[in-house]
Amino acid sequence: MERRSTSALALASTIRHDGDGGVADDLATVQGAAQWIRDQAGPLGEHAPPAGMPIDEPLRDEIVAVRRATRALFARAVSPAPPSPADAGRLIPAAEALAHLNAVAAREPVVPRLDWPAEKPPVARLLPSEPDPRVRLVTALARAAIEFLAGPERELLRACTAPRCVRYFVKAHGRQEWCKPSCGNRARAARHYRRHRTG
Ligand SMILES: [Zn+2]
Repeated sequence: MERRSTSALALASTIRHDGDGGVADDLATVQGAAQWIRDQAGPLGEHAPPAGMPIDEPLRDEIVAVRRATRALFARAVSPAPPSPADAGRLIPAAEALAHLNAVAAREPVVPRLDWPAEKPPVARLLPSEPDPRVRLVTALARAAIEFLAGPERELLRACTAPRCVRYFVKAHGRQEWCKPSCGNRARAARHYRRHRTG
């Protein structure tokens, strides 16, 4: 089962390399944001908005603000290594990012619930009790970031250092240095070039 915290990395990754030396933003338009939200239906689970819920500019702005806070705290998580170069020059302070995530998450009241089916262990859950699907969506993204940053994946988070790459990724194995093999190839080629150029 996909965990909601995967939405945190997915949200951060909507700022990405455009394949042509620049940076693309999947949330730059309301259409792009609507498509991204549809793609997140799995990890968001019961927090995913109902099909057909309109995405407008104010909602896009709120999602982008959660992303800004998430990326600022991703930068803190990978420090002292450098953050993703995509927004390294315009990161908001960590205290501001924390305050924003906490404020957004606090908009959704949750209800603790105990389920205990016969022959199975009891399960405690926090059920959302917010009727507005727009609020549920934005708070779910903030809570995904909170869970990610407080969970075991934070220590495995890296900013890829390959030339032109701007991705954050979670290391899948101990020696992984780059987000994907093609980045590793590019980074090694650049290293080789530098070594031979400088003699
Ligand atoms: Zn990469």
